[in-house]
Amino acid sequence: MQALMMNSQLMISSILKHAERNFATREIVSVTADNPLHRYTYKDFAKRSRQLANVLKELGAEFGDRIGTLAWNDYRHLELYYAVSGSGMVCHTINPKLFPEQVAYIIKHAQDKFLFVDVLVMPLVEALKDHLTEVKGIIVLTDAAHMPASSLDNVMCYETLLAAQHDQFEWPSFDENTASGMCYTSGTTGNPKGVVYSHRSTLLHALAGSLPDVTAASVMETCLPVVPMFHVNAWGIPYACIMVGSKLVMPGPKMADGATLQALMENEKVTYSSGVPTIWLALLDYLDKSNKKIDSLKRVTVGGAACPRSIIERFWTYGTEVKQGWGMTETSPLGTVFSLKAGMEDLQGDALVDVQCKQGRGVFGIEIRIVDENNQELPWDGVAFGALKVKGPWVASGYFGLSQVPGSEGCPVDELGWFDTGDVATISPDGYMQITDRTKDVIKSGGEWVSSIEIENAAVSHPLIMEAAAIGCYHPKWTERPLLVAVLTPDATLSSQEVIEFLRPNLHKWSLPDDVVFVQELPHTATGKLNKLALRQSFADYQFPA
Ligand code: AMP
Repeated sequence: MQALMMNSQLMISSILKHAERNFATREIVSVTADNPLHRYTYKDFAKRSRQLANVLKELGAEFGDRIGTLAWNDYRHLELYYAVSGSGMVCHTINPKLFPEQVAYIIKHAQDKFLFVDVLVMPLVEALKDHLTEVKGIIVLTDAAHMPASSLDNVMCYETLLAAQHDQFEWPSFDENTASGMCYTSGTTGNPKGVVYSHRSTLLHALAGSLPDVTAASVMETCLPVVPMFHVNAWGIPYACIMVGSKLVMPGPKMADGATLQALMENEKVTYSSGVPTIWLALLDYLDKSNKKIDSLKRVTVGGAACPRSIIERFWTYGTEVKQGWGMTETSPLGTVFSLKAGMEDLQGDALVDVQCKQGRGVFGIEIRIVDENNQELPWDGVAFGALKVKGPWVASGYFGLSQVPGSEGCPVDELGWFDTGDVATISPDGYMQITDRTKDVIKSGGEWVSSIEIENAAVSHPLIMEAAAIGCYHPKWTERPLLVAVLTPDATLSSQEVIEFLRPNLHKWSLPDDVVFVQELPHTATGKLNKLALRQSFADYQFPA
């Protein structure tokens, strides 16, 4: 028997329509290259998004066209999110911090028809001039007064184009499985691969993401997304927060600046924020040095890389709860998020931090499992670890332009329909997942797996160690043994033996690194993660002391 419910399509434009109707006076505050503090309302935002949809039409962009963005977190980028997808085009966010040749590859591979570019990113685009032959126009995200000189053809000014358009636009309705957005993975091997989101996956992700045990997004909250809008749609915040009517505060190009983040948080009374661990170190260091506060900030989501225990503990001293989350570009990114379960209300101190250090529980909509080498499911006992696999309506089933034949590069799912995340994890009986490694980063010593993340987390809890990476290096007896590569705080000195003694009580004997090497800095990917591949390459000839 068929149900008798309306078959309304899940459309991104429905978020905008709902928000304008219900939260017209809610504010969106942005830092941009041309304005240190821009402020407008949801009503202005909806009006300008319709004008932008008319601009796209006038430019000749058509249904299904890819529209590239190279931009920071601000209101103009938000307008692009809604106007591009709302018109049936694909909002393709590109990371301006990638190597220029990767940016060129991605623009070409995605066949971007137009590029919307932050004024600060124009030098990169100028440098790519010879690679942009297929791009029909470049629109600089600024006003006429701040337009840079350019040697490129067909460069236009965003505000001038917008001003020439009226604000009437009927958002079309179409199949909810139509592509709405695109983001290339920041993989450290091979070419980046394009993940394609749909209206349906984005809407379901926004709904699940706002649940009380996930982000608890609400009209009563003020959210500052520090995670960039070019990286997995800023973890869905631009959709979830607008859907529920949160005030949005966008740091623009000042994302890594502790002073700007603190000022925005205090002045705009930010209650919730999100970002990768390195960003929080910048904020926490600034708070410690300046004696300033972040009193309104109730909670932060930390993800993208394992959250060191010290970040959780330091945030507690400012009264802020850390909710660790795990996800990937291919999972939109929401996979698991930390929250307590009934019966755990009294947890405090170290016992509470112990659970916060895990990557959280599966969010409704995402199924998780761990498997052994034969793809056999492993128990949720907190001990067995294996390849982490996930399934759900906002998980990628393929990559743009790549063959989806099972077993090929473009097919990330196994024969049972599970996506292989490339992460290794344990799951406790009550469902808390803990990442122990990336499959490629696992250190295999004498046949035993050693978790590099466990070593790194223990190392950065030393007050003089700023950052640390553990890699496997050749060992004549054990094939591989862990080597710790550490960056010390300015002017600090430590010996390898002192670090090993510090780690001894916290690590299994087998996991203790055989040696510690100190470096000035560690290599990072464009999204701020440790680049273990580059590190392994630079230590390829390393030999442990006899
Ligand atoms: P990306 O697609 O660039 O967002 O990278 C996704 C990868 O980041 C995951 O497969 C994990 O290896 C890693 N990752 C994300 N969140 C966490 C976390 N909370 N703890 C440990 N690793 C994480």
